[in-house]
Amino acid sequence: MKIICIGRNFSDHAKELNNAQPTEPVVFLKPDTALLRNNDPFFIPDFSNDVHHEVELIVKINRLGKNIQPQFANKYFDEIGLGIDFTARDLQDDLKGKGLPWEKSKAFDSSAVISKNFINKSAFEKINNIDFHLEVNGNKVQTGNTNQMLFNIEELICYVSKYFTLKIGDLIYTGTPSGVGKVNINDELVGYLGSTKMFDFKVK
Ligand code: MG
Repeated sequence: MKIICIGRNFSDHAKELNNAQPTEPVVFLKPDTALLRNNDPFFIPDFSNDVHHEVELIVKINRLGKNIQPQFANKYFDEIGLGIDFTARDLQDDLKGKGLPWEKSKAFDSSAVISKNFINKSAFEKINNIDFHLEVNGNKVQTGNTNQMLFNIEELICYVSKYFTLKIGDLIYTGTPSGVGKVNINDELVGYLGSTKMFDFKVK
């Protein structure tokens, strides 16, 4: 399986990092070794002093697809989860400045938190109107709604399937709203999809 991540998909987040609003999705990959499951603790890696949380809605692909057309995109997923795209911001800034790929700052071990459970999309009235948020030590730090995405879930499925064959179990991290910030040892991160608690883990 592969993890496909979308960058700069919320304009308020693109702004907070002084990035231009993209005219097409920004895409990068993480390997399966990046997954951090079961509310396991996240250990801050020693190569960064500025690891940021980015809470993101996750779409799980449920069938094989290539060059998926817009009218069929909704058939390629049933379940939605929540996760974090941990980012070593200091390293990413350095790589971006040099025009190098982001992988070391984005795809390192445990950089892709994934909720234990996923929710069937039928539980949501509208896929493009789902609230999610992240609390750090009880404070709400990031809030988003899928209606704020520059490219919605179906558009993302079509777009990424032009380049990568989608397979059962592949995950798409759909981008983060504003409010990203540094995590510190002993922080507790709790994520919600609507009012459902999806993950709850500690930083070590
Ligand atoms: Mg992200």
